[in-house]
Amino acid sequence: MRGWKWDGPILDHHMHLDSRGMGVDAARLFESAGGTSILLVHKPNFNSLPKNKEHIRREYSKTLEMAEAVRKNTDLKVGVILGPHPVSWDRQTDEIGIERSTELHLEAVSAALDLIVEGEAIGIGEVGRPHYPVSEDRWAAANELLTQVLKMAKEDGSPVQLHVEENSSETYTAIDEIRGRAGLPREKTVRHYATANLSHEFRQGIPCTVNMGKGAVQGILETWKGGEAPWGMESDYLDDPSRPGAVLGPKTIPRRTAELCTEWRGAGKREADLDELLYKVNVDWVEMTYGWDPS
Ligand SMILES: [Zn+2]
Repeated sequence: MRGWKWDGPILDHHMHLDSRGMGVDAARLFESAGGTSILLVHKPNFNSLPKNKEHIRREYSKTLEMAEAVRKNTDLKVGVILGPHPVSWDRQTDEIGIERSTELHLEAVSAALDLIVEGEAIGIGEVGRPHYPVSEDRWAAANELLTQVLKMAKEDGSPVQLHVEENSSETYTAIDEIRGRAGLPREKTVRHYATANLSHEFRQGIPCTVNMGKGAVQGILETWKGGEAPWGMESDYLDDPSRPGAVLGPKTIPRRTAELCTEWRGAGKREADLDELLYKVNVDWVEMTYGWDPS
């Protein structure tokens, strides 16, 4: 029997590209493996974190220029996600004090929202809170700050990609609580770097993008029953020359998509159902969340 495969759009929901890394070449690899579109997420330069508004804008321009370079040199569709990383805030708090680092963080969110309004970007991210243990005071301040960020996103109707700690379903409870306080709709609140558990009990209606490491395809097959909140597949490719192989490579999502097709079929499930699901994952849900057509 001939192998069955998905030949529709394949979107990596969370990828970073760095002009000091492979940059456009990584995007070419993704395309050569069958990828068609990317959500390009701003990558902070931890060696030179922004000290003022102008600096923030300059850093964002680099991500926008990278997106343009990919569009010029490939047939990929690229949607840009801009925002200040929670780890930047934590580090800058040590360096310049909590007041100034918080101010800078919010200025960075506001600059990102401006660029979304201008049509240069389609969402805020990755924002969140430290994903490693911090002092109680720092934790309280981080939660306060995140609420503020989500409120700003809500006012502009912008979707958000969140990077938070991993603490099983409790993390989703916490996200839901903060987003509720901020008034940001669930549909606009996307948890990135999620484990492959898609069940409603686990996610409590919060959309997520699954980091597609080993075993992720099996997790999806076991927990997706249909009808739960939207989800997507991401590599979180870092394009970091100092850490080659530390994260998933740029071909991950096309390859895992092919694996999902094989496993789905192997499990005796209907191919038409997977076609429908992959269309949602790569097109429909993306349009719903970001107002952006990746196809
Ligand atoms: Zn990331």
